[in-house]
Amino acid sequence: MSETEKARTATPGGDTIFGKIIRGEVPTTFLYKDDVCVVFNDISAQAPVHFLVVPVKPIERLAVADQADEKILGHLLLVAKKIAAEQGLSDGYRVVINDGENGGQSVYHLHVHVLGKRQMEWPPG
Ligand code: AMP
Repeated sequence: MSETEKARTATPGGDTIFGKIIRGEVPTTFLYKDDVCVVFNDISAQAPVHFLVVPVKPIERLAVADQADEKILGHLLLVAKKIAAEQGLSDGYRVVINDGENGGQSVYHLHVHVLGKRQMEWPPG
């Protein structure tokens, strides 16, 4: 199933694979971990470097984040740039949040994609 098909059939609500990863129920190599977020490589990398920054709090999607999540959202971006630097992305990188069906979201636990080590195109597909 393509990523687009997965996004079309994904249903919001409930626990997700990311919840299992955060709780340690699925063996995962973390690039970074703190009380607020975890970082691990995307299982279906779309670039030579492709990792995900995922808040421990299971915010379903960006559209339902609220004012109380302001610090978490800021933290995700600061961790994204820190790990991007550690991964050697000094030539730049793409940061993506897919929201909902039209945004192509397939896992309903908010996450920030960071992709690098290749030239990105614009507009995205
Ligand atoms: P999105 O389509 O924006 O919701 O992104 C979800 C991402 O999670 C996709 O890029 C998937 O490849 C990735 N993904 C799904 N399951 C896993 C997993 N077990 N470990 C790492 N990445 C995963």
